[in-house]
Amino acid sequence: MPTCRSCHGTYPREYFIHGNGPRKDICQRCGVEKGMIEQSEATMIFDSSLANSRLTLLSRRMSIWLWIMAVWIFWFALFSNISIWISLPVLTVLTIAMLIYHLSGRAKYSAMLSRLTPEHERPPGH
Ligand SMILES: [Zn+2]
Repeated sequence: MPTCRSCHGTYPREYFIHGNGPRKDICQRCGVEKGMIEQSEATMIFDSSLANSRLTLLSRRMSIWLWIMAVWIFWFALFSNISIWISLPVLTVLTIAMLIYHLSGRAKYSAMLSRLTPEHERPPGH
């Protein structure tokens, strides 16, 4: 992934503007800030509803880690010294099942994320 010459951020190729000279390796956000492109040309700067949808999708995907941490903290706080030989295997199996579910949903997540990504037409030579 290329690095922006202006902000030193690393982004996929679609996030960069096209051109030579001062436009080379400039991301769309820096291009808009420096007046090289118009806001409407910057297809990868999302409007707020699209950004919210993407953030919701990401947080829904990553919330499983929060659940796993919460369940384990809850277990350590309350059940760890009561009936360890019943609750610990149940919790371990539950954690493994959650991780398998998380990993199996990767293709669905990337498909939904690509549906929320604007179309990018890569010009020849890029
Ligand atoms: Zn930049």
